[in-house]
Amino acid sequence: EPLGAGLGLAPGEVRALVRDGDGATWIAGEQGVWRHQGGRTVRLRADRAEGLLVDRAGAVWVAATDAAVLRHWNGRWERLGSEHGVVGYATGALFEDREGLLWFGTTHGLYRIADGPVRGIVRQPGLPSDYVRSVLQTGDGTVWIGHADGLSVLHEGRMRQVYPAPGTPPSSVLALAPAADGGAWVGTYNRGVVHVAAGGAPVRTLVPEDQPFGAEQVRALLEDPDGTLWIGTERGVVAWRDGLLHAEPLPGLPALPVRAFHRGDDGRLWIGLLGGLAWREPDGHLVVQRPGSPYPAQSAFDFHPDPGGGMWIATDRGLLHHGPGGYRAYGEAHGLGGSTVFRVLADDSGHLWLSSNHGVMRVPRSAFAAVDRGERDRLDVALFTRDDGMPSRQANGGSWPAGWRMRDGELWIPTAAGIAVFDPAPQVAPERGAVPLVIDALQVNGEERLPSAPGLVPAGGRVQIRYAGLSLRQPGALRYRYRLHGVDPDWVEAGTAREVTYTNLPGGRLRFEVEVASSLGGWARPAASTAIEFDVATSWWRQPWVVVAAGVAVLGLLVLLHHGLGRRLRERQRRLEAIVAQRTEQLRRTNDELEAASRERELLIEQLAYQASHDPLTGLPNRRAGDRALASALQQADANHGPVCVAIVDVDRFKHINDRYGHQAGDRVLAQVALQLQASLREPGLTVARLGGEEFLVVLGQTTRDAAVAVLERARRAVAAMPLGLDGDTAACCTISIGLVQRQGQEGIDALLQRADAALYEAKRQGRDRIVTG
Ligand code: GH3
Ligand code: MG
Ligand code: MG
Repeated sequence: EPLGAGLGLAPGEVRALVRDGDGATWIAGEQGVWRHQGGRTVRLRADRAEGLLVDRAGAVWVAATDAAVLRHWNGRWERLGSEHGVVGYATGALFEDREGLLWFGTTHGLYRIADGPVRGIVRQPGLPSDYVRSVLQTGDGTVWIGHADGLSVLHEGRMRQVYPAPGTPPSSVLALAPAADGGAWVGTYNRGVVHVAAGGAPVRTLVPEDQPFGAEQVRALLEDPDGTLWIGTERGVVAWRDGLLHAEPLPGLPALPVRAFHRGDDGRLWIGLLGGLAWREPDGHLVVQRPGSPYPAQSAFDFHPDPGGGMWIATDRGLLHHGPGGYRAYGEAHGLGGSTVFRVLADDSGHLWLSSNHGVMRVPRSAFAAVDRGERDRLDVALFTRDDGMPSRQANGGSWPAGWRMRDGELWIPTAAGIAVFDPAPQVAPERGAVPLVIDALQVNGEERLPSAPGLVPAGGRVQIRYAGLSLRQPGALRYRYRLHGVDPDWVEAGTAREVTYTNLPGGRLRFEVEVASSLGGWARPAASTAIEFDVATSWWRQPWVVVAAGVAVLGLLVLLHHGLGRRLRERQRRLEAIVAQRTEQLRRTNDELEAASRERELLIEQLAYQASHDPLTGLPNRRAGDRALASALQQADANHGPVCVAIVDVDRFKHINDRYGHQAGDRVLAQVALQLQASLREPGLTVARLGGEEFLVVLGQTTRDAAVAVLERARRAVAAMPLGLDGDTAACCTISIGLVQRQGQEGIDALLQRADAALYEAKRQGRDRIVTG
C-alpha cells in the first residue's frame, strides 16, 4: 500500500523509520523528517535526513546532511556540526552502544558522543578568553571569572566582560576575593587591585599601578571582617586599611611571592607562599614555616579546613594535612598522580576534590583515615581529565581562588581551555554487564592452556592468569581485583594490572575469581565478575594415604611393644627385637626419603624463584626484575635526593643477523651481547636487565648523566669490538644504540622509560652505534 501521499509526505525517498517512546513513528528521508501519530503527520524538518535513532533516554537522533547529527529532546532541537569539529556529511550510520555512547558516521569517518560528569564553559560572547585563572561566586549568585583578558561576570544567566573597560589597555586578572559590600576584589597582573561592585559595576581602582606595589602581580586577596584588605604580591603581603597602604603589616614575614590567604574560624590568618607558609595567631603571633622540617613542601597554594579538625594544604608536594600532630603528606605514593595540588574543595558526599595540572582528583575523605591507620597503602582516587569532558586536563593554579564550590553544589575549576564544571552528585556507575570481563589467557609452567579447559596443574606448578575488561567510555578508569580461594585470604586489589601469577599452589580444586569496577562505581558496585576453576596435583608426601600409613606403622609398633611385655615375653623378646629393628629401618628409610623430597622441593622453589626473575636465554635479570631494580633505585634516590640514570640499549639491525645467520645464531649473539654488557657494566648500584627481544635496560643508581655516559660508552665500544664468530665469518660484529636519560625531579618509571625510548629512537635516527642523551 503506497502510503507516502496518504500520510502527507512530500514525494521522495524515505530512508529511515523509528518509533519513539510515545509510540509515534518518525519518518526521515530526502524531503525532511516527519512525526506520525494518531493519524496526524507533522513535518518537523524540511532538510534531507539519512538516519534515525531513539536512544535509551528517549531522545531522537537524526543524521542530517545540513549538520552532522541533530538531537530532538524535550521538544527542542540541538545540532552538532562542523562548528563543533565534525568533518564531513552524515551518512546515516547511528548506533548506541551498550555503555550508552552514541556513534555516528560521516563521509569522513566515525565519531563518538559521550556524556560525562564534567562540562566545559568555554570562550563565548562576554567571555573573551579561555585561559581562566580564578572563579568565585558571591552572595547574590553572581559568578566572577578572572581570565587572561580581564574579568567577566555571569549574572542572571548573562555573561559579560566588566573589566578592563572598553578602550582601556588590556589587563589580565589573577586573583579574586568576595568584598563585604557584595562586590569583589580583583588582583591584576600589572594594574594593581580593583574593586568591582555587586552585579559587575562600577569599577574602582583601589591601588593604582603608580603606587608602590601597584604594578606587582596580585595573586591572592582577602578582606577581613575589620575591613582590612590583605594583598598578596610577588614580594610579600601588604595591607589596605582605613584608606592607607601598609607596606609591612606582618613583621617577620619573608618577602616571598604570596599564593593564598585563608581566615580560619579560630581567627588564624593563613598565608601560602612560594617557599613556605605562615599563619598569624589571633593574638598577633606570627609562625613562619620554610621548606624542610617540619613543613615538607615548597609552596602552599590553598587551605581548606577539615570538618574533622585540622587543615588541608594544597602544595607542590601533594596534599598535606596539618593538625596537632604536625604534617601528614599524601602524594604520588598514595595514588595522587603528579605532585602539585592547586585547590581543595569538598562536596556533600564526603569527597575532597583536588585540582592539579594533570586533571582533577576526587578522593573520599575516609580514605585518608584508612591510609593513616595502615589499612591500605593507596587512596581511592578517581581522576577526571579530558576523557571525562574537561575542556583541558590542565587545571590552572597559583592564583586564588583556583576553583569554587557554587551554591548549587557544582564545582567550577578554571583550566587552560575554559572552566570545567563538575556535578558532584554521585555519578551513575556503568550498569552491571555494560563492561564485559574475560579471562583470556592461562599459562601453566609457561605453557598456554585454554582458560575454559585448564587441565591438571602439576604439584608446585606456576600458573599465570590474564584477564581484561572492555570499556570504551573510560578505558583508563577500570580497576580489577581478584582472589584465589584457599590461597588469597581476601580480595587482592590489582589496580589496572591485568595479569597475576601464582606459584607453589596447594593441591586440590582452586577457584580464581576476578572483578572489574569503574573508578566511579568502586567495589560496592563492580561492573562485572568472572571465575575459573582448576585442579592442582597434590605432592605425594602430602597424599592422605602416606600420612595414614605412617600413622599405622607407629601404632603397630606400640601394640607390638605392649605385647612384648606380656606373657610370652622371653620367647617373643628376640622376635620382637628383630621386628623393631626391621620397622626402625623402614621408618628410617621413609624418613630419609621424606627429607630428600623436601630438599628437592626447596631446590625447586629456589629454581622457580630464579626463573621468575631471570631471562633464560641470557641469564640476565628479566624485565620484571629490571622494573623492580628501577623502582628501588628511584626509592633510594627519593630518600637521599641523589641522581638516577636509565638507559635503554638496543642491538642495531639485529634482524639482519637473524636473516643472515639464522635465529639460533641470533640467540647466541644476544647471549654474547648480554655477557659483554654484564662484563663492562659492573659499577655498584648498576643493574642490567633484558627488556625483551634485543633490548636491554640499564639502571644506574647514584649516577649523574656525565658519569653514566662514560660507563655506557665503554660498554658500547666493547660490544662493537666483540667478534661474533658467526659461520666462521671472523669479521662479523654487531653494534648497539643507547638512549640515556637522567631522572628529573620526582619523575616516575613510565615517564623515565618513555624519555629513554625517545632518546634511543633519536640514536637510531642519527645513524646508530651511539649514545644519545635526553
Ligand atoms: P634497529 O637497528 O632499528 O634496532 O633494527 P633491528 O632490526 O635491530 O630492530 P627490529 O626491532 O626491527 O628487529 C628486531 C628483531 O629482533 C626482530 C626479531 O625477530 C628479533 N628478535 C627479537 N627477540 C629475539 C630473540 O630472542 N632471538 C632472536 N634470535 N631474535 C629475536
Ligand atoms: Mg628493537
Ligand atoms: Mg634493534
